[in-house]
Parts: sequence; structure tokens; C-alpha cells
Amino acid sequence: MHHQDDSTALIPPYGGALVDLLVKGEERRRLINEAARLPSIRISTRSLCDLELLATGAFSPLDRFMGQRDYERVLHEMRLTNGAIFPIPITLPIDAGALVAGSNRVALHDARNNLIAVMDIEEAFTWDAQIEARIALSTTDARHPLVSEMSTWGKQYISGPLQVINLPHYHDFVDLRRTPAQVRQLLDVMGFANVVAFQTRNPMHRVHEELTRRAADRVGGSLLIHPVVGMTRPGDIDHYSRVRIYRALAENYYDQHRALLSLLPLAMRMAGPREALWHALIRRNYGANHFIVGRDHAGPGVDSAGKPFYGPYDAQELVAQHSAELGVTMVPFTELVYLPERQEYVEASQTPEGARTVAISGTQVREEYLARGRPLPEWFTRRETSEILSQMYPPRHQQGFCVWFTGLSGAGKSTIAEILTVLLLEYGRQTTVLDGDVVRTHLSKGLGFSREDRDANILRIGFVAGEIVRHNGVAICAAISPYRVTRNEARKLIGSDRFIEVFVDTPLEVCEQRDTKGLYARARRGELSNFTGIDDPYEHPIDAEITLNTVDTTPEACARTIIAYLEQRGFVWDKLGAE
Ligand code: ADP
Ligand code: ADP
Repeated sequence: MHHQDDSTALIPPYGGALVDLLVKGEERRRLINEAARLPSIRISTRSLCDLELLATGAFSPLDRFMGQRDYERVLHEMRLTNGAIFPIPITLPIDAGALVAGSNRVALHDARNNLIAVMDIEEAFTWDAQIEARIALSTTDARHPLVSEMSTWGKQYISGPLQVINLPHYHDFVDLRRTPAQVRQLLDVMGFANVVAFQTRNPMHRVHEELTRRAADRVGGSLLIHPVVGMTRPGDIDHYSRVRIYRALAENYYDQHRALLSLLPLAMRMAGPREALWHALIRRNYGANHFIVGRDHAGPGVDSAGKPFYGPYDAQELVAQHSAELGVTMVPFTELVYLPERQEYVEASQTPEGARTVAISGTQVREEYLARGRPLPEWFTRRETSEILSQMYPPRHQQGFCVWFTGLSGAGKSTIAEILTVLLLEYGRQTTVLDGDVVRTHLSKGLGFSREDRDANILRIGFVAGEIVRHNGVAICAAISPYRVTRNEARKLIGSDRFIEVFVDTPLEVCEQRDTKGLYARARRGELSNFTGIDDPYEHPIDAEITLNTVDTTPEACARTIIAYLEQRGFVWDKLGAE
């Protein structure tokens, strides 16, 4: 038995110290001045995440974006040139034209132009996205989220020593953001020789709580809950909601002396097995000597043929092969399932003969529970998690939508909109009306009726409606909106699934006969030009969600037709009526 009670037991086997690229004090001041005169390169959010983890030693022993020799060996052998295991290429892509000729010292800035680091470029080399994808990700299928992203990266990789001046500055969850050195120190204070780390990019449910608690028991040590808050799979739940969940769980359901929650600003690759190995290596640098790998770790879903990109236990296999060398013991789990009769979770492989199991998938969570406003069952998730998720995904009848009226002047848009507003208020929905005539007195004041001005008017209304809808309000827009492409732009601004186009299909003769505002008469007399229907076109919709006839129907009936449609879509729900 070696001594596991001192902190060196946690320090990785390649020699201990973590890479630290941060420059401090006088040297830092000097560099800031120098950087102002250097050619500048803007780096992507992904590269910024990588740079932060390089700077703080999370990728130790790697201390820079990879040069060609490291890159090739990592691709083909999962090792750096010095022999250390490293499964994922960490590279800095730049556009071919981004390098100023002759300059090999450059300043790196983030997307908002904050100074991050100074780099001495020692090499620049071209790379092939297809080859990298095929080897590092085992696929070139564009359904893989990184494959499609890689095609947008710069065509050259650059490498060289880095001096980091500023780490990215965060304003959210500041107390949970820690460097590897800080995490090691806190784990050290907890005083357990063994530390098991848990990776996640999803909300934590009871199954994850079970998994982590059992893992900590298995290794007889402490638990590092280490969620990724950098970049995850597109479409994942945003990290703000997730971290609120993690925090609530860590505070209410874990032993404070044994579990540590800390955030990891990692940009995931969704590379399955190789990613799992990389995750283990990173956690070793944060002080863990055990790592949980469950089913389909860091899996990106299915390819364009509907087949999973990686086998469900491929990641476990790869991590197991290298765990001794890495100094991280894998804590494997097969899928956990819930046995309602026994009210407990068991590994699927250990389910007793004929026992009934239940499960709820991520899609079911969203569609069958959250969208319908049903609370998630207690066996599945804690009350705190359920509440945060339902704030995030309110039921459809609390989500925003836009009713977009289009039709000739005098067709009846404003009249129906007014009635619709009252009916929606009766349903308890907060409503904003953006009426063309009214908007032209403030938001679009000064705009005329040229094609350009009409488009500007519609896009302004669309923008405001989009904001209202995003905040779960109801926007009712009533403007002639004569051009099809512009209405489609508005649809895009708001989101097609929340945009209800209502064509008020009143014939020109009827509008002209009604002539409530006397405008047709003036247009006919030539006192008004560019008047829709007279000397400016009206392009009627071809795919409107609703078409209304105002000739044989009352305004009230028209408004009720829209309400019936909204009810059927679930946007309004009469709580007083039967379910
Ligand atoms: P990712 O693996 O992409 O980070 P998750 O956050 O869903 O995605 O998973 C975190 C870890 O928990 C992974 O090791 C995963 O395999 C494991 N895991 C998730 N759900 C289960 C489950 N139901 N049973 C066993 N392991 C699970
Ligand atoms: P828009 O807003 O489309 O320019 P308005 O709503 O200002 O049109 O004017 C429409 C006129 O048509 C009103 O005078 C309204 O009373 C009349 N009208 C008659 N039948 C209907 C109907 N079914 N729907 C809407 N308006 C109608």
C-alpha cells in the first residue's frame, strides 16, 4: 500500500505539476503593451475554451495547440510525441489569409476582441477535415455535430508557445468556476484518498444521483460533480438551467463533506470513446483518480442512416484499456433502470427475471410531461429539477406565439385583431397588438410605401413580435404585409412553429366598397400612389395557416375560427373547462 492520504497521491503520474500558462505581474503588464502592437488573430468560442483549459493545466501535459507531429501522432496513436496519452486533437484553426506575412508573434483575441494571449507561431500547417473526422471521430457523416462544424474551420492550424494574459471572464456562477489547482485543493481538504469524477451535459435526474452516490461508495471516496458548461451538443439544455439544477441537488441531496460541484469550461467534441478517454485525462488533472463511464458516453446520437455513431459500451472498453497508464480507474455502469415494485434503481444487467421496469426518455420528458404541464414523477427526478425544467419548457399554453394577419386595406385585419385580443385576454394570455397604422406613428414613423420602406416596416414589426414571442407573450400583427418573401422573413424571425399566418381574404371590390378610411377613393383619384391593390401588388399567401372569408362571416365568427385553431394547437387552454 502506498500513501494515499497525501495530495501527491492525486497528482498525475507524468511528474506532477500542472501546466500553467498564465503570465502575472510586471511581465503581464509588459505583454499587454506589446500585444497592442502585434498582429491580431480572433479565435472562436471553441478555441477559447481549449485555450482556457490549456492555460490552467486541464490538458496537462499538453501546453499548446498541437503542432504537426503531435497532431499526427494523436490522430493515429492517441499519443503526444513525448509518449503521453492524448486522444483528441487540440488545434488552433485560422483562415488562410489571417496570418500577416513575416509575423510569428501574434496576439490572440476572443470574439468580442478581448485580449487573451500572445503566441509565438512556430508552425503553420494545412489539415484535411475529412481525414481528421474519419480518424478522430470515426465518421465523416455530416450528422455528427463536429463534422459539420469542422467544415467551417480555417484551413490552417498554427502552433507555438503561449503566454496567457487573461482567462475568459465569466459573470455567471462565478463561485463554481475553478481551475484544476483550485479543485485539487478543495478535494485535498475533503481528505479522501480516492476521488471519483462524474461528467455530464444534461440535467441530473434520480438515476444520475444513484449512479454518482454508488460510485462514491464503490471507491470509498469523494465525488467530483463536474458538468460541462463550455460547448456541448447543439440542442442541449442551456447551462444556466442545468447549473441551477446541479446546485440545488448538490445542496439538498449530497453530503457536503464528500461531494464537490465544479464547472468545466470544456468544448466537447461528442467523440464517443476517444472523448471518454479525454474526459478521464482531464479529470485526472482536476484531481480525480476514478471516473464514471456509463452507457453511450459523450454519444452524438445517430448518423444519417439512423445508426448510433458509437456502440453503447465502446467508450468503456477504450477507457479500460488505458486506465492504468492514465492513473484513472474507470467506474463503469451499465444502464440503470427503475423497478417500481421495489422502488429502486438496478443495473439493467441485474434486473430480476420478469421484473417490471420503467423509464422516461429525454424526448418523453419534453413532449409528454413538460409540454403538457405535467409534473415529472418523483421516482424519476427531484422536485427541484422538475420545477427548473418546467420553467424552462413551459407548457404550450404558456408559450408565446404570433398571429400574423395579412390582407388588403379594409380587409378586416384590425377589426378581427381587436376581437381576438379580447378573447385571448379572456383565456388569460397577455397580448400585444402591432397594428400597421399605429406602428407607422411610432416604431416605423417616417417610413413611406416604397417597397424598401414597406419591407423595413414589416421587419421591424417582425423583430418586435419575435422578442415578445421569445418571452412567451402573444403578438398580434395586423399590417397589409403585401410581399410573400417579406412575410417569410417575419416567419423566420419569430420561428415557424410559433407563427400563425392569417390571410384575411376579402376581395378588392368589397374592400373598395367598404372604404372605411376613404383611401381607395383617394387612390382612384390619384391622390395616393403605391396603394396596395390599385397600383402596388398584393401577393396572396399560398401556405397560410388560416384563411378567412369576411364576406359571409361576421368579425366575431372570424376571431372564433382563430381561437379554435389555437385551441387545437394547444396555444390556448380553457382551464375552466373539462380537461
Ligand atoms: P454525456 O455522456 O454526453 O456527457 P450525460 O450527461 O447524459 O451525457 O451522461 C453523463 C454520464 O452518465 C455518462 O457517463 C453516461 O454514460 C452516464 N449515464 C447517463 N445516463 C445514464 C443511465 N441512465 N444509466 C447509466 N449511465 C448513464
Ligand atoms: P384593415 O385593418 O384590414 O385595413 P379594418 O379592420 O380597418 O381593415 O376595416 C375592415 C372593415 O370591414 C370594418 O369597417 C369592418 O367593420 C368591416 N367588416 C365587415 N365584415 C367584416 C369581417 N367579417 N371581418 C372584419 N371586418 C369586417
